[in-house]
Amino acid sequence: MIERQHVWLGPEATSFDELCEACLVAREEIEEETYVVHGTLRVDADVGFTTCRRGHRIVVRRVRLRLAV
Ligand SMILES: [Zn+2]
Repeated sequence: MIERQHVWLGPEATSFDELCEACLVAREEIEEETYVVHGTLRVDADVGFTTCRRGHRIVVRRVRLRLAV
């Protein structure tokens, strides 16, 4: 088992499409599109959870950029 995966979103992103690494590690003869996880995160949320279609847990985190002046 690999650790929980994390997807990092930018400050204004509300959805993403990422490849599930756990599925890729357990690669079988399936086309790559089936590894894609589509998820959403409210713009006011800092963290969310989703699962790929095989049930791997994926943590969605939002990056809050703080520019040093
Ligand atoms: Zn997966």
